[in-house]
Amino acid sequence: MPKNPAKALRDCKTLMLDMDGTLLDLAYDNYMWLEHIPAEFARQNEVSEATARERLKAKFRSMEGKLSWYCLDHWSEELDLDIAALHRDENNRIGFLPGARRFLETVVGHDLRLLLVTNSHQETLTIKTEVTGVTDFFHGIYTSHDLGHAKEDQSFWHALQEAEGFDTETTLFVDDNVAVLESAKEFGVGMLLHITRPDTRWPAREDERFTAIEGVVDLLG
Ligand SMILES: [Mg+2]
Repeated sequence: MPKNPAKALRDCKTLMLDMDGTLLDLAYDNYMWLEHIPAEFARQNEVSEATARERLKAKFRSMEGKLSWYCLDHWSEELDLDIAALHRDENNRIGFLPGARRFLETVVGHDLRLLLVTNSHQETLTIKTEVTGVTDFFHGIYTSHDLGHAKEDQSFWHALQEAEGFDTETTLFVDDNVAVLESAKEFGVGMLLHITRPDTRWPAREDERFTAIEGVVDLLG
């Protein structure tokens, strides 16, 4: 585990970055899933927002970390709502985390392979790209839906290795999700960093298992 995040950036040959909560502010996703979608569900089903939130929370919990949890089509069907349209309606809330764009503009000039590695569904990836242009910076983009497994699953990393042929020793992977970092660690990814402030509306939260940075901009030292 790298003790010095800035050194990890200098040492790596492949830099893999998560999107939501690592580059883009998770405030948008949290607003969508914890407030806006429950409110729409409440309206459609004529129940209180508190009831809707409870029902959705139970549904979300049962799917957490699975590929379907990240699938907009799954939730559109399950909740009988047009989840992609709801996301588009609120796209003014999409944005980079503080310093994340500057970080990408800097590392794109480094001699390394820059990969976006995300559990995001293609539809949300498209909506977020329209607003931020986040995908422009990358040499390769890998989504769990394309590879057929969520990042929490070892099969994801095997499929990524097959597609990309990366050297685990010289790969730095940055993510805000500890379950995903654990999965990358189990596969043998050499350098891992944990983003502790994925949502600007909330304070930072560290996890003792991984070296912490508040945001990717901290890597620039
Ligand atoms: Mg994330």
